[in-house]
Amino acid sequence: MDFRLTEEQEALRESVRDFAREVVAPVIAEHYERHTFPYEVIRQMGKMGLFGLPFPEEHGGMGGDYFALCLALEELARVDSSVAITLEAAVSLGAMPIYRFGTAEQKAQWLPKLLSGEALAGFGLTEPGTGSDAGGTQTRAVLDGDEWVINGSKAFITNSGTDITALVTVTAVTGVRADGSKELSTIIVPNGTPGFTVAPGYSKVGWSASDTHELTFDDCRVPAGNLLGERGRGFAQFLRILDEGRIAIAALAVGLAQGCVDESLTYAKERQAFGQSIGSYQAIQFKIADMEAKAHTARLAYYDAAARMLAGEPFKRQAAIAKLHASTIAVDNAREATQIHGGYGFMNEYPVARFWRDSKILEIGEGTSEVQRMIIARDLGL
Ligand SMILES: Cc1cc2nc3c(=O)[nH]c(=O)nc-3n(C[C@H](O)[C@H](O)[C@H](O)COP(=O)(O)OP(=O)(O)OC[C@H]3O[C@@H](n4cnc5c(N)ncnc54)[C@H](O)[C@@H]3O)c2cc1C
Repeated sequence: MDFRLTEEQEALRESVRDFAREVVAPVIAEHYERHTFPYEVIRQMGKMGLFGLPFPEEHGGMGGDYFALCLALEELARVDSSVAITLEAAVSLGAMPIYRFGTAEQKAQWLPKLLSGEALAGFGLTEPGTGSDAGGTQTRAVLDGDEWVINGSKAFITNSGTDITALVTVTAVTGVRADGSKELSTIIVPNGTPGFTVAPGYSKVGWSASDTHELTFDDCRVPAGNLLGERGRGFAQFLRILDEGRIAIAALAVGLAQGCVDESLTYAKERQAFGQSIGSYQAIQFKIADMEAKAHTARLAYYDAAARMLAGEPFKRQAAIAKLHASTIAVDNAREATQIHGGYGFMNEYPVARFWRDSKILEIGEGTSEVQRMIIARDLGL
């Protein structure tokens, strides 16, 4: 067992770390404060090839793998989570369904622009009335001649309303099976299709420089050929996408947790109290030691899940464990980093305040912690 990175992986990690420090860090606080989308940063990430990391070169990708994406996400989130979640959602939720389940035509039409970062895609699963219980989808799509007619709404969809959003993949009920259960399918809806409305962005607690919208479909018509993969495979498709996505979110959470260590170390050495740096007090040292230990163990958990996935082995349980553990310790580390910063930790100009606001969603998005526990328990045979 060897957890050390290869030279190529180290080089990727270094280049994303430098990019995060030199390009993201100087501008992100202002975007966060103003709730604006960092188009210029995203454009540069596209030029670096980050949106194409886990895809083959024949589709315009970089020929890397899912672990490479995770390394990039960790390094971005070490500095900022809005940018990291934009990349995670664009790749793992946006482009991946088209790469995994799309026809040759769909891939040729969409992947080159999605993998270059020139365009973004959203993943429309959650609805206003149902999230964890995604089988409760109410959005309907009816085949009328050679068109799907879609009616319904989706909630909290990342990357669905930017100036460069090209499409959303929408999970919809397309029929009823013989046993009475819903037949779910996935349909590609290009932005600008009549009947498809994107509501103004939400006012969020965190991830404030990322893009999230409610979407409505009102007799929205798209060609029958926009069906993604086979009819009736919608449930299996989103389960696969979410299993993988959990590893990516775990990597993002580890990045945030490590960013909390970075910021706390610097501050603890500088800040003086009672004639000494606060870092000379064991109470502070132990907090930072615990934070580092938590980030390290969560990192190993996502490395393990990614390794199993890439080896073609079952990885559902390990992905859920990685996501559950990493999101829990990200919240822990953000809370402790804020505490170490004292009153300044409550000031938005300090990165730890952003980390604190960004940490909670990690226990909710792409499956809540309760859902991760359900997956683990089920996999154990309960
Ligand atoms: C900023 C943001 C971005 C997002 N991006 C996307 C996106 O791009 N695409 C997308 O499709 N979705 C997206 N989501 C939605 C997200 O995945 C859901 O919010 C999440 O899955 C939880 O669903 P819910 O909000 O409906 O909560 P609910 O499912 O209503 O859950 C409420 C509470 O009940 C608990 N609960 C539910 N069922 C059980 C049970 N059986 N046992 C125990 N506890 C249970 C949950 O764990 C939770 O604590 C995003 C959400 C946010 C906030």
